[in-house]
Amino acid sequence: MDNKAKKQRFYTLMLVPHDARGKPVSIKIPASWVYATAVLSFFFLVVVGSSIIYSTLLSRRLVNYANTIDKNRQQQAVITTFSTKTNKVARALDELVARDNELRKLLGLKGWKMKTTLSSDKSTLEVTSNKVSLQFEKFDDKITERKRSLEELKQWVSLVQSRFASTPSSWPIYGRLASLFGYRSSPWRGFHAGIDISARYGAPARATANGVVSYIGWRSGYGKTVEINHGHGVSTLYAHNSSYAVRVGQRVKKGQVVSYVGMTGWTTGPHLHYEVRRWGTPLNPVAYLDLNILSASKLWR
Ligand SMILES: [Zn+2]
Repeated sequence: MDNKAKKQRFYTLMLVPHDARGKPVSIKIPASWVYATAVLSFFFLVVVGSSIIYSTLLSRRLVNYANTIDKNRQQQAVITTFSTKTNKVARALDELVARDNELRKLLGLKGWKMKTTLSSDKSTLEVTSNKVSLQFEKFDDKITERKRSLEELKQWVSLVQSRFASTPSSWPIYGRLASLFGYRSSPWRGFHAGIDISARYGAPARATANGVVSYIGWRSGYGKTVEINHGHGVSTLYAHNSSYAVRVGQRVKKGQVVSYVGMTGWTTGPHLHYEVRRWGTPLNPVAYLDLNILSASKLWR
């Protein structure tokens, strides 16, 4: 009863014209309308204001997002390029490994373990920096492995070189071959254990390989003789000399003068009698006059 009884309040809105011709207009508005309008406008302001703020924040975030996407795309492009290059390096490395193994095979060395090939993974669709760094770890392993292989090859080569250096491989003196290796009838019958190389009296005879002088002295038939031990059971002998240029126990290099041509022993004229022996057995020196590393290596077996 109380509320209903309460008298409805009104507000009057008056519009008064500025000149006297018009009539003033007055509108009677209930108070509740005014309150409602005030509340609605307040709501309206709140909604519009907050949506403006929200959309501003959102657009800023969108810009950031777009930037991030762009940056990602650029990074992806960089990684892809990097990965392509990495794959190239991987292929080159694989090829090196193959060549290395070929070389090892040629040299009779066992091929180094070829666990994984590097360039097998060719999918560039999903390249991640993780994958790339994994690839690099593999590179590192491969390179370490190959370093060891190369070290072994180097050792092998130096071994071969030193073996070659101690293999008779050259003429002790250049000249006409006056007498060959083997059985002969003149001027002395019997087995000729070496070759005779014509040379002028006093011409220098040179060691045909690195070695150690193992004998110097007179031998029946040979006259003044020099013997050099080259290791691996191989020795060379230089006979009919007029004099010596080295002493027993001396280390000699290939090409070093060891003696001078003469006519000592059984000889009809100045020449060098040259022998090559293996474990004491005379070999045909002609096979040892002009060797390179390849032809020499065939005589090592
Ligand atoms: Zn001879």
